[in-house]
Amino acid sequence: MSAAPPRLRTGRDPEMREYRLGSAVLTTYRGWCKGCDLCINSCPASILALADDDRIEVTDVSRCIFCGICVVRCPDFVFSMRRDRSAR
Ligand code: SF4
Ligand code: SF4
Repeated sequence: MSAAPPRLRTGRDPEMREYRLGSAVLTTYRGWCKGCDLCINSCPASILALADDDRIEVTDVSRCIFCGICVVRCPDFVFSMRRDRSAR
């Protein structure tokens, strides 16, 4: 069975973005981003960029390898990652 296609969802917090690929979930809290570029320069898939409002966005989650480097690199705890065991 193939994995679910990548999808993006927003939460109750309007600055929250949740990027899903199969059971992998990468969440960003954009309101905490100060646009320092650390994660952008560290992402091995080169899929992180600043949006027009100078806050981070994932440009193509289908290329994300869910390595967690952005989670570790961001000094402002913008990223979190988890596995959704109910998803396929
Ligand atoms: S998890 Fe890895 S590949 Fe995905 S956005 Fe973060 S640094 Fe890039
Ligand atoms: S490392 Fe964190 S604060 Fe810096 S640009 Fe990336 S998300 Fe924003």
